[in-house]
Amino acid sequence: MANGRGHTGHRWRQVRREVLARRPLFCYFCGHEINPRLTFPDPASPQVHCIIPVSRGGTTTVDNCAPSHMRCNQEAGNRLPAPEFIPVEGLDP
Ligand SMILES: [Zn+2]
Repeated sequence: MANGRGHTGHRWRQVRREVLARRPLFCYFCGHEINPRLTFPDPASPQVHCIIPVSRGGTTTVDNCAPSHMRCNQEAGNRLPAPEFIPVEGLDP
């Protein structure tokens, strides 16, 4: 939500772009390569998440963020007691 340190704004966009610019792009969760050309709502499209959630003291920096498949990110989020979802631009209608 709007706590001032969330995954919004210019800084997060920049981090997200840098993480997704890595080649090859490997999923943090399953270790398989991510096709950067896929886009939402493809379940294999790339997403970026924070390794240490911001809610637990992590920072929105390239070092703390990793790419993953949207599917893997969501599955991981469903398993965690406090899922740390990162909205993808353009997700909302
Ligand atoms: Zn994956």
